[in-house]
Amino acid sequence: MIRFDCISKVWPDGTQALRDISLHVPRGQFCVILGPSGAGKSTLLRAVNGLMQPSSGTVSIDGVALTTASERALRKRIAMIHQHFNLTNRMTVAANVLAGLLPAVTTLRALSGWFSPEQRARACRLLDQVGLSPAHLQRRAGDLSGGQQQRVGIARAFMLDPEVVLADEPVASLDPKISRDILSLIRDAARERNASVLCSLHQIDLAREFGDRIIGMRDGKVVFDGTPAELSDQRVEALYQGAQWEDQEPANPAPMPDQLAAAC
Ligand code: ADP
Repeated sequence: MIRFDCISKVWPDGTQALRDISLHVPRGQFCVILGPSGAGKSTLLRAVNGLMQPSSGTVSIDGVALTTASERALRKRIAMIHQHFNLTNRMTVAANVLAGLLPAVTTLRALSGWFSPEQRARACRLLDQVGLSPAHLQRRAGDLSGGQQQRVGIARAFMLDPEVVLADEPVASLDPKISRDILSLIRDAARERNASVLCSLHQIDLAREFGDRIIGMRDGKVVFDGTPAELSDQRVEALYQGAQWEDQEPANPAPMPDQLAAAC
């Protein structure tokens, strides 16, 4: 479903954020990207929706490579959930959720702010599914608690029934109980639609609890790729502190198609 072929990224200041990453994330998988700050998690996620142009390599969704020409069409199928929620604080909760439709409407329609009764009903249903009541609809998004704002962010992300959900540290600023609730909501909404999730986290317990698969990144490289059960404490320690994985093969590399391996 999501395929990274030999992705590298060097920022203009010379920082090498990603180093030759090749991965395949199948449909319906909840894939956690785990790793210390600066490992390249955000950069990798942003390659999927065109917010970051790789220096080399390609990202494709269902076999369609992400290019300037394909980006607009692909964006309708990809949603993003942000660490700092990225809501428009002065707008209502309802307007923020309806903004999830913007990749699929014309600029004129977007500017007019007109949405059909069906679209409004869908926004209400999604808000209900993430645990917000009709009383929240007309409240200013900026007045909600962090956990409530992230619920709005999830409802917005699912307005277009995405096939790919990118969640960039979605619970970094939330307490542990609310973090679990939020990750459960993302997982359940994605499962219902058989959507693939790429979710960056730095909390190991949450990665183990929610990931079908965990990809460990360090210094722009994939240094672990396996199931939560395979992520031993020793491997976690190496991911965060030790240097013993540096310049070694991944502990449990994902199988790579022959042609992909040859291309790298
Ligand atoms: P993570 O999400 O794992 O914390 P990032 O993907 O944000 O890591 O960053 C990876 C590396 O790229 C870091 O060294 C970071 O400082 C650098 N980086 C990120 N964005 C930029 C940018 N716009 N310009 C220059 N360097 C950047």
